[in-house]
Amino acid sequence: MRAVTFQAPGEVRIEEKPEPEVVAADDAVVRVDVSGICGSDLHIYHGRVPVEQGFTIGHEFVGTVIAAGADVERVAVGDRVLGTFLTACGTCSSCLRGDYHRCRNGRTFGHGSHLGDLQGAQAEQLLVPRANMTLRRVPDSMSSEVALFAGDVMGTAYHSIAKAEMRSGDTVAVLGLGPVGLCAVQVALAGGAAAVFAVDSVEERLRMAASFGATPIHLTEGDPKREVRAATEGVGVDVVVDAVGNPEPLALAISLARDVGVVSGIGAYAGKAEVPLGLAWLKGLDLRLGVANVIAHVDRVTALMEAGKLDPGPLVSAHMSLDDAAEAYEIYDRREALKIVLTP
Ligand code: ZN
Ligand code: ZN
Repeated sequence: MRAVTFQAPGEVRIEEKPEPEVVAADDAVVRVDVSGICGSDLHIYHGRVPVEQGFTIGHEFVGTVIAAGADVERVAVGDRVLGTFLTACGTCSSCLRGDYHRCRNGRTFGHGSHLGDLQGAQAEQLLVPRANMTLRRVPDSMSSEVALFAGDVMGTAYHSIAKAEMRSGDTVAVLGLGPVGLCAVQVALAGGAAAVFAVDSVEERLRMAASFGATPIHLTEGDPKREVRAATEGVGVDVVVDAVGNPEPLALAISLARDVGVVSGIGAYAGKAEVPLGLAWLKGLDLRLGVANVIAHVDRVTALMEAGKLDPGPLVSAHMSLDDAAEAYEIYDRREALKIVLTP
């Protein structure tokens, strides 16, 4: 089968790989209908996340089950399924607490040996361990490219709002309108946010956030601090979601939050950063950080998408063939697309 493999920083290539087979009793094999290219794939593409040469990448997929071990109970051969971007065992101390994102035996698709040595989803077929945890049937009425968001991007956006314990009537600011930020705008509004301020410097993304019902604020041409203050009687917002993916906007996030508010950092932080901790302390802020618990959220997220209350459809900006993956990564790297869907 054909698969997209990492070769070197800035270079991915289609290679011929053996078809996966069921090994453990709770494994399934999925024939991939669509896979996505994600912001976190760019960390691999640039060599910031180390992956072995020749490793198959990609972690977002929707497909059809073509083989299943004897212990796979929740899906069956022939089912159209969506998957979460990581697996969890269900029995370790983290899983028993419901913290599947910190499973001690967790494995992430397409991230090389240091994150569980699990080959990726940008391929014709995919081995899915812990299929009872990792896979869900796709509702008949849902397109595969919409379902693609449930196990990663929309689940991550959902986590950023759920973890902040946003309540109906709250005000929210979302920093960074990549796919996760735009989905966080939708989740906040679906959860009853009274107002959502969406901050970015790309006009097209600001326009999309506005079309979802947010108040767009240009990061540099506007003045996020002044505009949010003016709209909240000088108080600041209840919840700030930082969906940028580096620690730089944390200072802005802290300044936009009201006293005793919440800053929910869902973008991936790496390394050290300077943070105005004194201001955060003075305000009594909660900083809530970390990767999303997508396995815990995936059924609610899928239900909200099926009901039409969340709709990531507008974010799909390009459809390309798996064979054109190298070009797709170049386009994505130039930020010319929000979500590229690859079809084998
Ligand atoms: Zn992703
Ligand atoms: Zn576990």
